[in-house]
Amino acid sequence: MSFLSDIFRRLIGAVPLTPIPDPYREEPMPDLQSAAEYIRARLASGQLTHDDLARLVVAYQQSHDLDADGKPGPATLAKLRPAALRKVYPLPVLPDLRKPQITSGHKSRNPSRPNHDGCDLFYRWQESDGAVKLGDGGATRDAAGKPRWFIPAGLCAIAAADGVVSAASKTPTGWRVWINHADGNRTGYFHLRDARVTKGQEVSAGHPLGEVGDNPRDTDAEHLHFEVSPIGRYAPIDPETWLVGATYFAG
Ligand SMILES: [Zn+2]
Repeated sequence: MSFLSDIFRRLIGAVPLTPIPDPYREEPMPDLQSAAEYIRARLASGQLTHDDLARLVVAYQQSHDLDADGKPGPATLAKLRPAALRKVYPLPVLPDLRKPQITSGHKSRNPSRPNHDGCDLFYRWQESDGAVKLGDGGATRDAAGKPRWFIPAGLCAIAAADGVVSAASKTPTGWRVWINHADGNRTGYFHLRDARVTKGQEVSAGHPLGEVGDNPRDTDAEHLHFEVSPIGRYAPIDPETWLVGATYFAG
């Protein structure tokens, strides 16, 4: 079953969101996400059949110039081997070349925030930035009383890798966007002022997602909260581990 799960995980990221031919069932599957959810449930309950998996394999083969025989043979498996995902930090390099910085990490490396499911990103404040809104966190002023961190007005969070938008909507903590990636993970962008993408949209690394803003629920400074979780369940991992090897996106 773990072999099937692995194949399935890679197929989910590799097959485009197009209708899948469904010779095995009466009700049509409207899109891959529905098929994916169906098969995920079958996997979880131990009811996955050969036909279920073959349908996904056929869809993958048809979209990758392979013989569509529904069998994950050597040629298909070779193509399925995931290409390394190009990752970028989810905020761009500023025109003055300042890079985003992670100021507060995931709970696994941050004992003071046991509920922090992601990491927070800002830029280092400098005099020319002028007055900024200060938050209620501990790292908002330096010893001289100057602001330490800021986000430029109008700045957008950017996609950390190529993927497909799986959610873009308003929540009590601001607008948020999730993107599914071919490595089986999804990235989440929180406390946005709006969303510049819509569910189902394909995006490339660096694509603007929405303006960085506030969490309406607290008085913290404007910042980006960034999460990484496996696709299909909410189990946030340490984004800094996922970002190892990421580059800075300069637009
Ligand atoms: Zn946060």
